[in-house]
Amino acid sequence: MIRTTRMSAGRVAKALAVLALTALAATACGKEGSPPVKGPKPEDLPKYQVAQGFQLPDSSTWKKAKKRGRLVVGAKEDQPYLGEKDPAGGGYTGFDIEIAKMVSASLGFDPKTIQFKTIASANRETALQNGQIDYYVGTYTINDNRKKLVGFAGPYFMAGQGLLVRKDEDDIKGPQDLAGKKVCSAAGSTPYQRIQSDYPKAELVAYDTYSICVDNLLTYQVDAVTTDDAILQGYAAKVPEELKLVGKPFSEEPYGIGVPRSDNALRFAIDDALEQHEKNGDWKKAYEATLGLSGVPAPTPPAIDRYPAS
Ligand code: GLU
Repeated sequence: MIRTTRMSAGRVAKALAVLALTALAATACGKEGSPPVKGPKPEDLPKYQVAQGFQLPDSSTWKKAKKRGRLVVGAKEDQPYLGEKDPAGGGYTGFDIEIAKMVSASLGFDPKTIQFKTIASANRETALQNGQIDYYVGTYTINDNRKKLVGFAGPYFMAGQGLLVRKDEDDIKGPQDLAGKKVCSAAGSTPYQRIQSDYPKAELVAYDTYSICVDNLLTYQVDAVTTDDAILQGYAAKVPEELKLVGKPFSEEPYGIGVPRSDNALRFAIDDALEQHEKNGDWKKAYEATLGLSGVPAPTPPAIDRYPAS
């Protein structure tokens, strides 16, 4: 029997292949008749001026990095336009990666020397607590629970929770329609926790990454993927003929840069850096060359919250 509402095996394979190729987007071209897959163009990215003679003696993290000669930064590797790793060259691109680079330059480290480490949502706090990374930039929502474990510079961007479904889905128009539906999100994420607490009738499925959720959506294993709209827009932009976002954002997700909790000197220095790059136009230019490619024009960045040390 042919199920007309379902994608053919060939279309599924094509959609999955498009997603797998996201990191090669800069060089990839579409098939004849289909638009090329867009990716950040290196020439559109800002060049960040490396601060000369910068010192941060009160930051143990900064001093350790200085001795090492480079920063180690935690990021995501499978979030289109935000944090993506090129499987061939190993380089990372995206808006979060640009944020990590502008901050690095302000802290006196050439962004080219950053060593990026992929860390999943559920492992961010431990990575910062164990000193595996100096700071973390990867769609990391600032909230009071997490502030008990880590520090947050920023926010540098405001996202909101959304829902991604297949184009042929008519039943799900918002979170109120999730009862009895299979909904996929990343373990340890705020969107996962919100579905669990506010929409308990949804059948929650958790994976380490959102890209696994999207694969499961394309192959009819789940009915929806939920996380921040900024992340979902990236997946939808990669395969617009198969996926769509539905409803309005139903939370506020202010993105912060995670730092070790006790290192207030580093946190405030990163706050200064963000403010400086927002003022000098780097932030907007970086947004337009990366996240802006998913179709949403540059918003005004949220005000930095320099909360007191505790
Ligand atoms: N911003 C949300 C969070 O920090 C979802 C995105 C993510 O998992 O990175 O949990």
